[in-house]
Amino acid sequence: MTEDLVVNGSSVSDQWGQVCEQLKGEIGETAFESWLKPLTVGTFSDGTMNICVPTRFMRNWVITNYSDRIHKIWEKKNPKIKNVNFIVQAGQDVMQAHGIYSPTCPSLIKKIASSPMPQNIYQSGAVAAANANDGTLNDSLSVPLNPQYTFENFVVGKTNEFAYAAARKVAESRSISFNPLFLYSGVGLGKTHLMHAIAWHIKQQDPTRNIVYLSAERFMCKFVRALRYKDTAAFKEQFRSVDVLMVDDVQFMGGKDITQEEFFYTFNSLIEEGRQIIISADKSPSDLEGIEARLKSRLGCGLVADIHPTDFDLRIGILNSKAKQMGLELPPKVAEFLATKITSNIRELEGALRRVIAHSQLLNNHEITLDMTQDILKDMLRSFDKRTTIDEIQKKVAEHFNISVREMQSSRRARTVARPRQIAMYLAKQLTSRSLPEIGRKFDRDHTTVMHAVRKVEELIMEDVSLAENVETLRRALEA
Ligand code: ADP
Ligand code: MG
Repeated sequence: MTEDLVVNGSSVSDQWGQVCEQLKGEIGETAFESWLKPLTVGTFSDGTMNICVPTRFMRNWVITNYSDRIHKIWEKKNPKIKNVNFIVQAGQDVMQAHGIYSPTCPSLIKKIASSPMPQNIYQSGAVAAANANDGTLNDSLSVPLNPQYTFENFVVGKTNEFAYAAARKVAESRSISFNPLFLYSGVGLGKTHLMHAIAWHIKQQDPTRNIVYLSAERFMCKFVRALRYKDTAAFKEQFRSVDVLMVDDVQFMGGKDITQEEFFYTFNSLIEEGRQIIISADKSPSDLEGIEARLKSRLGCGLVADIHPTDFDLRIGILNSKAKQMGLELPPKVAEFLATKITSNIRELEGALRRVIAHSQLLNNHEITLDMTQDILKDMLRSFDKRTTIDEIQKKVAEHFNISVREMQSSRRARTVARPRQIAMYLAKQLTSRSLPEIGRKFDRDHTTVMHAVRKVEELIMEDVSLAENVETLRRALEA
């Protein structure tokens, strides 16, 4: 596949190898190993070369520091490369374990193909979306809709009924009922699913309506690119004819001032013209970090609906519904086991189910039993138990910088102690699901100090290569 993709006489992987060699010479072995070696070649289309990056953090780093250079070098070797795009391929190992194929990063296919998963359950939403012709929204801003993410496939329970009702209302109303609709929840609880469901519904009712669905990150990338090419007028023009604008995960807009301003502008003008806006985030508007006050208040001025963590009944409902979609019935004991053990979020619950089903299909549709389920999920459950804690982060960071955990929690402000403390706070925010006040308590500080630390480290990462490398090393050690 990608490995054989020939553009302008040689394969893109060969070209990427050459780009890497040249960059290694320019930036040095250490920086190369840290930042560029983990990247892999993805797909090429319409002049855009997609490069896969393992984490969001690395992606930001690579874009800030190397993307222009990569683009220049590559374009020189191959004038057909007009853009180089970086795509986060988060948690590759998890995705492989669950048999998820990435349409943008087919280098993953090889690894997956060699894993013992039957072909028919590769079909994650992502693949299906890429294959479905009618899931494409008609403009260059949007990403395709996932055909699985419909209202019909959304299981409603106590924890999500309000968000569901709000989403349905927006999808079904001919006139605007609330604007914007702001959905928020922790990860994997159905925000993206509901947004796609709204889009599908509107599309079905009236195919002429111009719906744009994109992530906040994509919005930022597109805008920054427009700035770079001094083409912001064209960027703005794209939004003029939009009837429904959906922006997913706006928390990632935090801190990026010019994009926020542009978003604010786009947002206001669309609202004024009576177009529907739907936003999602991981926090309520007022709790969003790094977002300007006026934008926060704008985001919260329509209807704000949150999705709570799942309860047992909903988990059972979802398991049964997903099993049914895959054409089988789950023994109640197995469903109970899964719903008791995997409580974090729905994405992980689905992953576990997919694993169990894959296993039974591999064994010639062997009956799914409780024993078998327990056995298959042993590793997965162990890795859930092993999730990083704030204590562990404090310990690792203190060790790394040669200070004691007690010093880290003390009131000392010397840089040698304060910096590691800030880094530990930053990592606690990134790697655990603890709230700012909870993190603060572990450091004997209040939440504003944690927020400040997170922001500070984010800034430093952009400015200070050695600090960024330290943070990345720690993150990898903690995630291992
Ligand atoms: P978020 O955007 O909040 O991180 P997603 O919308 O991506 O979460 O949901 C994660 C996975 O869980 C998706 O595969 C989605 O289809 C599934 N899911 C979430 N909520 C429900 C639900 N209520 N019923 C069925 N599937 C759900
Ligand atoms: Mg989402």
